[in-house]
Amino acid sequence: MGNVNITINDKKVSVPAGSTILEAALKAEIRIPTLCNLKGIDARANCRLCIVEVEKSRTFQPACATKVSEGMVVRTDTPAIRKSRKMTLELLLSRHAVDCHHCMRIGSSKCDDLDPKFCEMCFFCDCVRDGFCELQALAREYKVDYLPFVIEANTEPLDTSTGSVSRNPNKCIKCCRCVDVCNDVQAVHNLCVVHRGSEIKILPEMGKSMAESPCVQCGRCADVCPTGAIFMLEHKDEMLYNTHKYGVTTVAQISANVLAQLAALFKLSTPQADIKTVTAGLRKIGVDYVVSDDFALAKAQAKAEKELEKRLASGTVILTNSYAAEKFVKRNFPQLTGNLLVYNSAQQEFGQYVKTTFADENKLDAKNIRTISITADNENSAEAAETDSVDFSVNARELYRVFMRTGANLARIRPTELDSFGTAEVKCDGLFSPVKWEMYSKINIKTFTVAGNPVQAVVATNLGQARELLTELAGSKSPYSIIRIIA
Ligand code: SF4
Ligand code: SF4
Ligand code: SF4
Repeated sequence: MGNVNITINDKKVSVPAGSTILEAALKAEIRIPTLCNLKGIDARANCRLCIVEVEKSRTFQPACATKVSEGMVVRTDTPAIRKSRKMTLELLLSRHAVDCHHCMRIGSSKCDDLDPKFCEMCFFCDCVRDGFCELQALAREYKVDYLPFVIEANTEPLDTSTGSVSRNPNKCIKCCRCVDVCNDVQAVHNLCVVHRGSEIKILPEMGKSMAESPCVQCGRCADVCPTGAIFMLEHKDEMLYNTHKYGVTTVAQISANVLAQLAALFKLSTPQADIKTVTAGLRKIGVDYVVSDDFALAKAQAKAEKELEKRLASGTVILTNSYAAEKFVKRNFPQLTGNLLVYNSAQQEFGQYVKTTFADENKLDAKNIRTISITADNENSAEAAETDSVDFSVNARELYRVFMRTGANLARIRPTELDSFGTAEVKCDGLFSPVKWEMYSKINIKTFTVAGNPVQAVVATNLGQARELLTELAGSKSPYSIIRIIA
């Protein structure tokens, strides 16, 4: 297939035939807003925000679902389009439990004495997405400051049954990103669309609660949800309470994966929001000890390495330190449970170490220690909620809110040194080196050296890929010695 030449906002762009206008705009570095599109997944054209004008077409076209054709002329940001997008947002918000948007403090302080981020400290607009919400950002961009439509009552009950991945149907805009990620990427097939038209709902399988459903708490639906309709239950207030509690020692571990998010939230460059600055912030709010996750990661991997050497002789090993992946294998492939080698996550290793070795060395009573894991990964939050790995698992947004409420502004704080638990050695660390969850990547096959011998390992970077590999293993002998799963 050849290329097709089109013009978007007077800019010429050449894209492969079969591309959508949205893909062509991306190539031309022209932004078209969307609340439902997920790259790599078939367009649903649900949100109608990506509408564009196509010359010779009588109606606006959804950019995500309209294929380019030779000579097409497209405009993405005319007054008529902006008006239509604004009306779409007004309609969405009239059916939405807006508890951020009506707050008069949001970005509106005219007083020079107030910190421009003062509104972040307001407790009345505390939607878990406030400040980091795609719907909110678009409502601001399109200046939706008044809702002309009848505002519908929000009567749906919240589902917080898992203590981690939670649902607030009153904030759902029915974009279906969560359904697509749960079905097409994670292959868990829990979330579904039921009813049609204005009755449409997104529900876990058979309308069950999340806790009773086949959800494995990977948290990927919360990652892609553009609003606060699916979210990880927060624990920032309990954490803050414990940092101030008399007789309690708090020990925090920072994962490097949280730093870029914190930098973005504080509008700093990454070097400014480095681990030492975050450590200073944690000390300011009263945390007694702060370590990086390097030690716990290496220690967990070193233990897994020893176990792996023993297990390889008896067949393919399914290797994971993911709480969600373990659940996924046990639920969907119970016959393969014997092949599972689940090693500790950095958070779990940290929690165990602090309550045993660290407590003994520092003559502390483990009952009076609270462990805090600061991580960007949603499944860590699920692990903390369902197991006793750590007392609190806190994400970047929660920490940001805590810092803002307590005046620990990373932009103004001086970095301080971390504490250290020591070092641990890992020999075949290529096998264990951190791999991120990926929506679109391919299954990755590599050869590693374990105990001096080459072994072929395959890495699944999402649960859909894991299902494929485990189905093969369940049906016959797998060609791989190790199947590593990232959830
Ligand atoms: S989901 Fe977004 S728009 Fe809705 S209340 Fe939360 S922050 Fe506001
Ligand atoms: S947490 Fe994962 S398994 Fe559960 S509903 Fe969301 S995407 Fe599906
Ligand atoms: S829960 Fe979130 S991702 Fe799912 S349909 Fe509703 S708004 Fe979209």
